[in-house]
Amino acid sequence: MSDDLDKYFEDELAKSRSAPALAKKAGSRKYACTVINLLPFELPEEKPMMLPSVFRVPEARFEGNKLVKLGILHVEEGVHYVPNPLVDEGRPGSSIRQITPPTEMARSICEDYTSAHIETSETAQPGLFWVEGRLTEKDLIEEYPDLISDRLRMQFNWFRRLCALADADFKKNRNMLSVSDLQRSAAKILGVRAEWVEMQMSEYVVCKFCTTQIPTFAIKCPNCKEIVDKEAYDKLVKSGV
Ligand SMILES: [Zn+2]
Repeated sequence: MSDDLDKYFEDELAKSRSAPALAKKAGSRKYACTVINLLPFELPEEKPMMLPSVFRVPEARFEGNKLVKLGILHVEEGVHYVPNPLVDEGRPGSSIRQITPPTEMARSICEDYTSAHIETSETAQPGLFWVEGRLTEKDLIEEYPDLISDRLRMQFNWFRRLCALADADFKKNRNMLSVSDLQRSAAKILGVRAEWVEMQMSEYVVCKFCTTQIPTFAIKCPNCKEIVDKEAYDKLVKSGV
């Protein structure tokens, strides 16, 4: 072992003695955070440089618009390795193990997801948040009832904004591709009734005149008003409808 390395460990030891609480936190495997998901689907999150590098936050369950089960993931500290400037000198394999505390891991899982989405605000955002400690669903309901209901209310606000956007987009171009799966599941939880909620892509064909998606059995294109099914149209006219 080189003198430099001895010195490095001595320094680290001195640091950990001067900050015993921090060292204890980082070293304890029991130290964890709980990530809570109120979204009705599982969230995969990747942190490529980190160990562990994949997190799957389970989905929450709803009956109608009533939340019946929280999605819960316990997060411990993350580890990544950086080259050690003291002993490396171009040799491969020597690196310093760096610890990211569970609070930082949990925060980044929640913020990365939320910041990747549209229509969020301070009062409208996905129900993805975290608390310190390894808590069960029962613990969370007992200790954080207000936090959970606040976050649920904010998620419903967000869902309403997503649905309003889907509705506006669909009315404008009548294209199922403009509606996301997220918007469709938001609509289902809110009980929104709209054409774009239940319809699948297979229920649509492309209008020969304006190329938008239209219902398979449409006689007249709802977008450009051209007759797309001449035979059915003539029959209707003849029957006097
Ligand atoms: Zn058309």
